Amino acid sequence: MRVVVFEAPGGGRDDTVGSLARALSVPRTSIGNVMRANLSQGTELGNRVTEIMKSGSLVPDEILTEVVRDGLHRMAPAGFLLLGYPRTVSLALALDDVLRELDAPLDSVLDLRLSDAEVERRIRRLAARRRCRKDSGHRFEPEMDQLRVEGACDVCGGELYQHEDETEIRFRSAFMSYEAMLEPLTQHYARQGLLVTVDAVGTSDEISRRAVAALQEHSL
Ligand SMILES: [Zn+2]
Repeated sequence: MRVVVFEAPGGGRDDTVGSLARALSVPRTSIGNVMRANLSQGTELGNRVTEIMKSGSLVPDEILTEVVRDGLHRMAPAGFLLLGYPRTVSLALALDDVLRELDAPLDSVLDLRLSDAEVERRIRRLAARRRCRKDSGHRFEPEMDQLRVEGACDVCGGELYQHEDETEIRFRSAFMSYEAMLEPLTQHYARQGLLVTVDAVGTSDEISRRAVAALQEHSL
């Protein structure tokens, strides 16, 4: 099964996509993974991307598409869950071309959708995250982690603080950018009859079961 997955920001802790990949027995990948594989193997393509990133420029669409083509060449026959890509309709069109070349079209595009109320809850939960001043590896979500002493790191007792990247305003803006990115893409894939929308509420296993059922129904 070949599926593009869109997941709202901040869902990383319960690994819904991982759980879905296991349920469908297909590997998951992201543009980041494919890129890192190229970079670490020092391929010609990887070296070009390194050069571009060193220069501080954005990686152009043609090169991104090359990177994706390279990754999907290896994965397409076995199926995949592609996460976090494409991010624009022009990249989606290029992805369609790549998959056509490989004779491996997408089966579905899965939109793991949060209701507005869920988005609000998630923003509040994410903005409650705290880090430890003594060790940046010590991170907590006070509500979930049930700290023994309020405001103190459970590992070393260090003072907990809110990182400037983890404020409510930052998360709200991340969700707005995500929505703005997603809108034209869901329209694009809905036109192709590929879009499957699933309510992303509950545990990762619950969401994954719901998604499997919706994907199976869609492929009938
Ligand atoms: Zn600590």
